[in-house]
Amino acid sequence: MKIILLGAPGAGKGTVAKLLSEFDGSVQISTGDILRAAVMEGSDLGKEAQAYMKRGDLVPDSLIMKIMEERLREPDCAKGFIMDGFPRTIPQAEALKDLLEKLSISLDFVANLDVPREVVLDRLTTRRTCSNSSCQEIYNIKSSPPADDNTCTKCGSPVIQRDDETEEAILNRLDTYNAMTAPLIGFYEKEGLLRSFRSLQSRDTVEDIRKSLKG
Ligand code: AMP
Repeated sequence: MKIILLGAPGAGKGTVAKLLSEFDGSVQISTGDILRAAVMEGSDLGKEAQAYMKRGDLVPDSLIMKIMEERLREPDCAKGFIMDGFPRTIPQAEALKDLLEKLSISLDFVANLDVPREVVLDRLTTRRTCSNSSCQEIYNIKSSPPADDNTCTKCGSPVIQRDDETEEAILNRLDTYNAMTAPLIGFYEKEGLLRSFRSLQSRDTVEDIRKSLKG
């Protein structure tokens, strides 16, 4: 499958992408995961991105497009991909359109995960993430907590609250989403690629997306 997941922070894009990737080996491409790994490693990219991320602001488009072009050229993307957290702005969506044309890749569709604001807010404040940059498994202290000693059940690393999951950064991320990313719904509607999914339970959403791929 070759799809983009659109949706507010906390809409469940990461969880849905991971579940979808288990079906046919399509890779999850999460710009947030790539950036967090770069910050943890202390690379030049990480140093440049860190301050934006901590505030809940978007990292500049030019930096993101460089990451994505490199990522899409990697051989594991040939089988398929699920983009999670990219594109986030109209210029990114336009640049992606050109890039996909250049690489002769066509998308199946863009899945918009439609989740009420109160659900998103609750999920973000209760979310916890594995601190291992190559794992980044997602937990929720209410619905899917980590082990008692706060370690990741997948890799054993400490599970933490992300820097950008303070109340102030969360509200900023939601404002940024409304201002910069929500316009992509109209963009992809015009392109004839948009499909919307009312998404409350990730597993149901995954089933709906798979049915939509077949149909
Ligand atoms: P996420 O894990 O997708 O919520 O992303 C965490 C943070 O990484 C965002 O708040 C942004 O600072 C940055 N980020 C991730 N993806 C993008 C993108 N496509 N464009 C700009 N910034 C991004």
